[in-house]
Amino acid sequence: MAVIEKKSRQYWQELDKSHHLHPFTNHKELHEQGARIITRADGVYIYDADGKKMLDGMSGLWCVNVGYGRQELVDAATQQMQELPYYNSFFQCSHPPAIELAAMLKEVSQPQFNRVFFSGSGSESNDTIVRMVRTYWDLLGQPERHTIISRENAYHGSTVAAASLGGMKAMHKQSGLPIPGIVHVDQPHWFASDRKQSPAEFGLEAARSIEAKIRELGPDKIAAFIGEPVQGAGGVVVPPDSYWPEVQRICDEYGILLISDEVITGFGRVGEWFGADTFGTRPDFMPFAKGVTSGYLPLGGVLISDRVADVLIEKGGEFFHGYTYSGHPVACAVAIANLKLIQRDELITRVRDDIGPYLQQKWQALSEHPLVGETRMVGLMGALEIVTDKDTLERFDEKQGVGTICRDHLIANGLCLRAVGDTIVCAPPLVLSHAEADELVEITWKALDLTQQGLSE
Ligand SMILES: *Cc1c(COP(=O)(O)O)cnc(C)c1O
Repeated sequence: MAVIEKKSRQYWQELDKSHHLHPFTNHKELHEQGARIITRADGVYIYDADGKKMLDGMSGLWCVNVGYGRQELVDAATQQMQELPYYNSFFQCSHPPAIELAAMLKEVSQPQFNRVFFSGSGSESNDTIVRMVRTYWDLLGQPERHTIISRENAYHGSTVAAASLGGMKAMHKQSGLPIPGIVHVDQPHWFASDRKQSPAEFGLEAARSIEAKIRELGPDKIAAFIGEPVQGAGGVVVPPDSYWPEVQRICDEYGILLISDEVITGFGRVGEWFGADTFGTRPDFMPFAKGVTSGYLPLGGVLISDRVADVLIEKGGEFFHGYTYSGHPVACAVAIANLKLIQRDELITRVRDDIGPYLQQKWQALSEHPLVGETRMVGLMGALEIVTDKDTLERFDEKQGVGTICRDHLIANGLCLRAVGDTIVCAPPLVLSHAEADELVEITWKALDLTQQGLSE
């Protein structure tokens, strides 16, 4: 390790350019600028190859919920590696870490959930769901009922089925997606609308675009609806309060399955164990990943309601699906340690009652800044919208790349946040202290100032 650490940033950047193709990266820009090389982390801070310290306001990629450097997680992995580093759960095999984790997940989720299917990631979890949903309706003698409704600008992962469930146009364009049987309706993004309606009216109308789609295609064709409780990668889109109750009503009325994609919102991010708890829905499926291990090892899975699991078990025969690393013992051992840590340190009530409200209040004060048109935050998941005019909420020309300019100022000043167009998003670790929350908001204000200065030069 020490030897590796001593190499320079330039060394890593050159080697990286030569041999490493990155996910979600413009390779031409990468080659011009070089990658940001992160070499170590502790608490809520990451350090780059120059030794520069930055507050990680994104928890890696929305996943390091308990922060970096947690010895409990390292110990759990070490111990499990020594005892049983790998075994599979195919063909009637199982092992204690997967079993114990499945039972723990049942304990922290809503009562309709008694079973878990494990995968290695959020994308794999959503691929699993596409197959399970369709198999469920086949087993009930309704093979026509295969269409899944999703939303514009949703993110459900990057494999072929998961990217099809997602509603990112740029992703669809690159490989002939979506696959058949997946359709998209409006997202509940009030700020991005013409704002002629109140948020409450707008939320109802967005939910009713699902109902309109069901009627258009025929209720006997619709298998399920999938949504992130709060759209993450799409720019932390917090739906109006009216939205989710109406979605639940529609799913109930037409008997379609509700999939709550909890890959970001699970494990405390929005102040309850799952986003479904925060927003009051009763889903049939909850895909999860990211925060289940706080990102220390790759693991994903799907919580499956009794309504579906009972049919699969009683009528299904063999389900021809699974991953070599489904329920990987070391990943499961880390997840167990992670969940215990979340429980012991009461991180979920901390987000709901303490650091959540604290950061929300500070974050909201950023809406006083001349460049900011709106701020929003639920739990520890927030966004702010950069605009040219606070009164009309008019956007900058996309080509100016103002969001990216602001993001670069943030990073230069020691804070990692992400730009989605001209939306700056934030999702810090759940262990963020009050002082660190102050730091996060101060640097954000400063970066907005620097962005504004740059624009008037
Ligand atoms: C990240 C994410 C996924 C995909 O998870 P991977 O582990 O990257 O495959 C799926 N759904 C949501 C909501 C996500 O944010």
